[in-house]
Amino acid sequence: MAIQSIKASPPRAWAEVNLNALVANLQAARSAAGCALMAVLKAGAYGHGLEEMARFLSTQDLAFMGVANVGEARRIRNAGVDTPIYLLGATWAAEREEIVANGWTPCISSLDEAQQFNSIADRMDKRLKVHLAVDTGMGRGGFVAAQCREVLPLLDQLGHLEIDGIGSHLPSADEDEAFTRRQFATFEDIVHELGGRERFRWIHLSNSAGMLGYRQGLCNLARPGLMLYGVSPMPHSDVFLQHVMTLKSRVTLVRWLPEGHGVSYGRQFVTTRPTRVATVGIGYGDGYPRHLNGMGAEVAISGRRFPLIGRVTMDQIMVDVTDGPQVVEGDEVELFGGVIPVAEIAKKADTIAWEIFTGITPRVMRCYMEA
Ligand SMILES: *Cc1c(COP(=O)(O)O)cnc(C)c1O
Repeated sequence: MAIQSIKASPPRAWAEVNLNALVANLQAARSAAGCALMAVLKAGAYGHGLEEMARFLSTQDLAFMGVANVGEARRIRNAGVDTPIYLLGATWAAEREEIVANGWTPCISSLDEAQQFNSIADRMDKRLKVHLAVDTGMGRGGFVAAQCREVLPLLDQLGHLEIDGIGSHLPSADEDEAFTRRQFATFEDIVHELGGRERFRWIHLSNSAGMLGYRQGLCNLARPGLMLYGVSPMPHSDVFLQHVMTLKSRVTLVRWLPEGHGVSYGRQFVTTRPTRVATVGIGYGDGYPRHLNGMGAEVAISGRRFPLIGRVTMDQIMVDVTDGPQVVEGDEVELFGGVIPVAEIAKKADTIAWEIFTGITPRVMRCYMEA
């Protein structure tokens, strides 16, 4: 047989991305917040695939797509998407020319930043829309509340900038309700003082937790990330979200090990009975957390849970399938998704769902489905 006619083998590990679930979550986000949305697509759309998600979401009536940096903004533009792009953090000097040239919307954290944007826009004969960033407690960017009153008139003198919005960020909406309520009140006071809705076209404060746990008040834009991908940061929210990503792999080998046999590096796990062990083709090199060792993590095969045993290696893990005699080589394995919530894996790996998603490496093929 000619080598060209041999079909490429299927991937060892892949992530199924359910676009219908994404649309349902977008709908849930819209009704939870009752305002316009900026879909947050930073870090490769939380590991779901930046270009694919941006292209798909470009038909969903979004006010903005939010990204972390110019590299991500550029990739969205190169994918042919023309939804307005917002840069979520402060920019630094070497990024600003490209931002002005493309008309991406930065948030302004300092007068220097504003002045440089203004002179670049002047040179390019453009007018750049920007948002005023206010630091109401995050401590990562923006003008602290007390500066805003003095700064706004100075920004107004910069003729090539248009202050089109005002935003702030919530550091603990899922952890500290009293603080977050005060933050909403502080932000609203500042916005009112600076001219309210007449002055700013876009007023925004909430991430997913802010949208699920609080009334938006004066805000007319919200910035959901995690909830679009089907995970609620609020454990007690009654908003129903659907998981979007299912991380999968396959059983590559099944065999019996005798009692007293070590499994994986360090031999921290030793069988206490004759054990049927399935080897699965995924590991920390794919982003499956090595921290899961010894934490009671499970995988699902044909909808049934089986315990992970021994350390996670770079490319393979071992699973005890003694109680599942039907498990055979080639079976699909769910690492997280509909049976094993990603939040459960995050908790057992002592981290958060955001980090699990963004840690899925390029080796894992993303497959998009509208089921
Ligand atoms: C990442 C980010 C968001 C989205 O946060 P989620 O908790 O994932 O909804 C919103 N706003 C800013 C400024 C961010 O950096």
